Amino acid sequence: MLKLRPYQEELVNNIYHSLSSGHRKIIVQSPPRTGKTVVMAKIAHLTTNFGNRVMFIIHRKEVLEQAKNTFNTEGVDMSLTTMGMVQTLTRRVDKLPKPKLILIDEAHHALAKSYQRILNKFPKSYVLYFTATPERTGSKQLDQIADDIIVGKSIRELTDKGFLAPFDYYSIDDIDTKKLKKSSTGDYTNASMEEAVSRKIYGHIVSNYQRLADGKQAVVFTYSVESAKEIADAFNKVNISAVELDGSTPDNLRDRIVKQFRDKKIRILVNVNLFTEGVDLPDVDCVIMARPTQSLALYLQFSMRCLNPREGKRAIIIDHVANWKTFGLPDSDRDWKKAIITTDKGKRKKKETATFAITQCDYCFAVVPSGKVKDGKCPYCGKPIKVRAKVEQTDDELKLINDRKRVIDEILHDEVMQQVADKSPHDLHTMKELQAYAKLHHYKRGWVFYQAKMKGLIKKNE
Ligand SMILES: [Zn+2]
Repeated sequence: MLKLRPYQEELVNNIYHSLSSGHRKIIVQSPPRTGKTVVMAKIAHLTTNFGNRVMFIIHRKEVLEQAKNTFNTEGVDMSLTTMGMVQTLTRRVDKLPKPKLILIDEAHHALAKSYQRILNKFPKSYVLYFTATPERTGSKQLDQIADDIIVGKSIRELTDKGFLAPFDYYSIDDIDTKKLKKSSTGDYTNASMEEAVSRKIYGHIVSNYQRLADGKQAVVFTYSVESAKEIADAFNKVNISAVELDGSTPDNLRDRIVKQFRDKKIRILVNVNLFTEGVDLPDVDCVIMARPTQSLALYLQFSMRCLNPREGKRAIIIDHVANWKTFGLPDSDRDWKKAIITTDKGKRKKKETATFAITQCDYCFAVVPSGKVKDGKCPYCGKPIKVRAKVEQTDDELKLINDRKRVIDEILHDEVMQQVADKSPHDLHTMKELQAYAKLHHYKRGWVFYQAKMKGLIKKNE
């Protein structure tokens, strides 16, 4: 059996607390590389121990075997467990046995039709949505399918406690972001990425690796198989062993390459998005980003790939495509409770780069939190560095601030709202309290209805 880390134990406790207070569909947030599968295995074990069925849905085939091993180690009763890729399970949904509990990995995808078909088939099952990033690129968010969220320890807390490696972040702009165009999925189109990324990037990737991370085991994320091949070539030309890997690389060849990387016979792995979700690759000390993205999930999966801790390790992240300007640093503060709220149709939440308070050194290209700049000097190279002045607020942001002011005003004048302000949903017992709470957190009316039904405030057939 696996021993849980303190923060994993805390997640399990919080999940049971939420379930016992009446929630049935719960988002469980915890950063990438923090062992969510182990937490799921623990909960699956507890469930099958009581003779109840579990279903475990994953997004990619690469992680299924790993997850099965973890479940086996944990002593989950596999005869009561259905594990599979979403594409497989959704095709066989009519033949699947009804689970008491559904566990979803990488659950920021869970609004997709393939997941919804399964979830709609078993409306009475408990559902735990595990994800590092409970945020989607579209306007619809996970509040549509969940009634609670548990937020795990932040990246910074986990780094301080030694569960993630500390990192340095550098950015070299090899991109014209104005040329990027979004597709219907919300992320950039392949054609526009091709257009936006400068041809200089191949040389820059190699020279900056040599300048900042020479000798370190590195993974490069790029936007196309062709560019991946060019990048690998550029490394090999200067005798740094590099290999390109993509979805069409046969499994046995990939396993062999990954083993050579672990044995440090290959220095650099270049991929499009093979090494994102879950795929195990522990000894990465440097990540190089050559793929711009609008997806926070992808950004964190890319950048945090090198954060597995080791005594004395300091990871290096090199961003060639200005992703930090969209998302801040990997450990920038993020409000997950706000992220799961669906915004008005078509109106994407404003990116909050201005609030991240980070700045870039013109000399060494380090990206640093403004708080780390002392006496106007870069903490890395000691050259003068200017902390960016606060960016002017846009109309949208001003409107948001005014909206917030209005709500605060209402709270001050409304007794019920005051009472619910610091409560969580399981502390609410009347319709009035639920309504006030929903208003405070901008929840839809459906949420009130759902909660009221769960709490028996509305009769089942109403
Ligand atoms: Zn500097």
